[in-house]
Amino acid sequence: MIHKSVNNLVAIQKEIQQKKKEAEIIAVSKTFPINQIYPLINHGHKHYGENKVQEALEKWADIKNDFPDIKLHLIGKLQTNKVKYILPLFDYIHSLDNIKLAEKISLEQEKKKFKPKIFIQVNIGEESQKSGIDPMNLASFLDNCRQQLNLDIVGLMCIPPISGDTNKFFKEMHNLKNQHNLSNLSMGMSSDYMEAINHEATFVRIGSKIFGARD
Ligand SMILES: *Cc1c(COP(=O)(O)O)cnc(C)c1O
Repeated sequence: MIHKSVNNLVAIQKEIQQKKKEAEIIAVSKTFPINQIYPLINHGHKHYGENKVQEALEKWADIKNDFPDIKLHLIGKLQTNKVKYILPLFDYIHSLDNIKLAEKISLEQEKKKFKPKIFIQVNIGEESQKSGIDPMNLASFLDNCRQQLNLDIVGLMCIPPISGDTNKFFKEMHNLKNQHNLSNLSMGMSSDYMEAINHEATFVRIGSKIFGARD
């Protein structure tokens, strides 16, 4: 019997194909136990997202040894003092949002001889309560990360404001990506991934539409 999460994933992939688009789907498995993730792993899906370091260590450390092709994405807030735990477990970090964190990742990647691929989180709605680099400061932050810290910055990530014109924010992200010569955009969740893909998202982060509602 095909598991529901596999059906859900395949339906999303078909929808994207029908629109003649392409994007990597990160299956956001936070809060779900590993036995509910296995059907997707056995189906061959490679990209998974987690938002908590401790939970990810417990769930993924062994499995990543058994399935070396799996790519793990850290999509949640990363505290500087947790950086030592996440390399080399996480292949991608989507939440680089301050210079102290950038400096810490730089030191740790040198120590571990493992360079994660990194997205800079952009506070695209310029919300005071939300993390992310202000679009105005992006150029200098990016310069620092690349020139001084030798980070592998692959793109920009955002979580747009809950209310407001999501399309407008995705469009601004697309412009920023081009302006700064980056290749990737991490944006779009269960409720708005097609809009994000219409604005050239290359990674969409989808949880509930694949795994079902979280508690
Ligand atoms: C939980 C989470 C998602 C996935 O959310 P869904 O609405 O379940 O698709 C995407 N991005 C981030 C940063 C998240 O924390």
